[in-house]
Amino acid sequence: MRPSNLVADFFSGFLSFFKGLGVTFRNLVAREKITVQYPYERIEVSARYRGLFYLPYDEEAGRLKCVGCTLCEQACPTNVISMTKLGAGKNAGVSEFNMDLGRCMFCNLCIEACPFEAIYMGPAYELASTKRDASLFRIADLAQGGRPAVEANNRNIQAALDAAAAAAPPKEGPA
Ligand code: SF4
Ligand code: SF4
Repeated sequence: MRPSNLVADFFSGFLSFFKGLGVTFRNLVAREKITVQYPYERIEVSARYRGLFYLPYDEEAGRLKCVGCTLCEQACPTNVISMTKLGAGKNAGVSEFNMDLGRCMFCNLCIEACPFEAIYMGPAYELASTKRDASLFRIADLAQGGRPAVEANNRNIQAALDAAAAAAPPKEGPA
């Protein structure tokens, strides 16, 4: 290699070094910070974020919107969802609704399958735990309003079922 090229390479490398330092310095002082000091700082997630599921509570009806039709359970490819139906007909609901999120892909198929807008994913994302059974979320963990909402749901559905049974015409026995 000729000496003149060596000198040119030296200055070119030297220039590149300072160009790189310039980029670092610009990012250090002039650019808006996009990192946060998690867990001391938290960013607000998008409204469309697929976090922990929740079961909406209908304030007017005093119950969860879920009617226990099992369409979400059937749509789930990894058997995350199981439930216990409460009652039948137009007053039907659920007394238990379990989701094992250890198997969940957050694919949204269950939500798309629900005809009653009775299940959604919310913004909660801190689901990690050292407990073996922490991936299992029961109805009180999922219901909007927690345990009191589940108790009101069960009470009001049962009351509606009792009222419907009392209003039904008596069944005719065998002649
Ligand atoms: S998001 Fe997908 S994998 Fe998770 S419960 Fe719903 S259907 Fe199942
Ligand atoms: S969440 Fe929706 S699809 Fe699933 S059981 Fe309830 S009403 Fe049916």
